[in-house]
Amino acid sequence: RAKNQGRNRYAFYTSDLTVTAQHRMEMENDMRRGLERNEFILHYQPKQDLASGNLNGVEALVRWQHPQRGLVDPDQFIPLAEETGLIVDLGRRIIDLACAQIADWRHAGLALPRVAINVSGVQLIGTQLVTDLRRALSEHDIPASLLELEITEDFVMNQNREAIHLLELFRDMNIQLAIDDFGTGYSSLAYLKELPLDTLKIDRSFVAGLPGSHHDAAISQTIIVLAHNLGMSVVAEGVETPEQRQLLLEQGCDSVQGYLISAPLPPTQFVTTFLKTVPSHQSSHPV
Ligand code: C2E
Ligand code: MG
Ligand code: MG
Ligand code: MG
Repeated sequence: RAKNQGRNRYAFYTSDLTVTAQHRMEMENDMRRGLERNEFILHYQPKQDLASGNLNGVEALVRWQHPQRGLVDPDQFIPLAEETGLIVDLGRRIIDLACAQIADWRHAGLALPRVAINVSGVQLIGTQLVTDLRRALSEHDIPASLLELEITEDFVMNQNREAIHLLELFRDMNIQLAIDDFGTGYSSLAYLKELPLDTLKIDRSFVAGLPGSHHDAAISQTIIVLAHNLGMSVVAEGVETPEQRQLLLEQGCDSVQGYLISAPLPPTQFVTTFLKTVPSHQSSHPV
């Protein structure tokens, strides 16, 4: 069932050139309706510190709880949202959902790691994202240090003064920045020293070949050394086997994320599996 349905959904939602303008308009309207009816939700995937095994981060990943199609993956609607500009409204909703969730967890007295939100390049044009983040942080009364933004390499490659300035604004706000899917873009390495980045995420296509592929092992090792020499931390994405984790540990990688630790989970499941109450002697401030 999943496979066929998956293919149909894919054909329905991607920016395939064969999709008619009429059809695309329907999809766009469907997405707008979905936004109005709060059909977009976040799942949460843990990041694990390799040395200690402790939870040291979590990534928020959007899903569309569609009334007819069930739970739809982001690959099926993010591209169209980017093309139509709907990503700005959707992105604002995602930020709001993540911040509301962080506030809830804090009020419940749970020890929280930093929460990473994915942002598209389109959201990094202009200063709307800064406005949205500032508003959400103050509305939900949470510290910016609990947020991280995952941006893709292609955005930083096309860097211009405005883009660099924007990333510097995030740094000044105390929001961490990670490059997602590192190693897959068409970028020069020059930007790495120019931008205020905290973390590189090794793309899962390189992790997939570990530990057997010498080439993939050389790439992961090189990214780890590069990041550390530039004062950044490294997360490996898509870690599925103990052997992959072991090699990454030996290579000096800081954190891992992937099905080996956990798939992205709905919030209630994430809480029961990964979040612990802050010991009472530490929760001195009223909530
Ligand atoms: P990403 O940010 O690189 O997220 C990692 C993707 O890999 C997620 O897919 C996750 O479910 C999947 N994954 C995690 N562990 C494993 C593993 O061990 N093996 C394999 N094969 N896959 C694993 P997902 O949730 O379908 O998201 C796909 C992409 O959609 C994300 O890639 C991100 O680029 C985009 N996306 C997701 N949520 C958002 C969002 O809120 N805003 C924006 N702008 N983009 C988003
Ligand atoms: Mg997926
Ligand atoms: Mg990501
Ligand atoms: Mg990625």
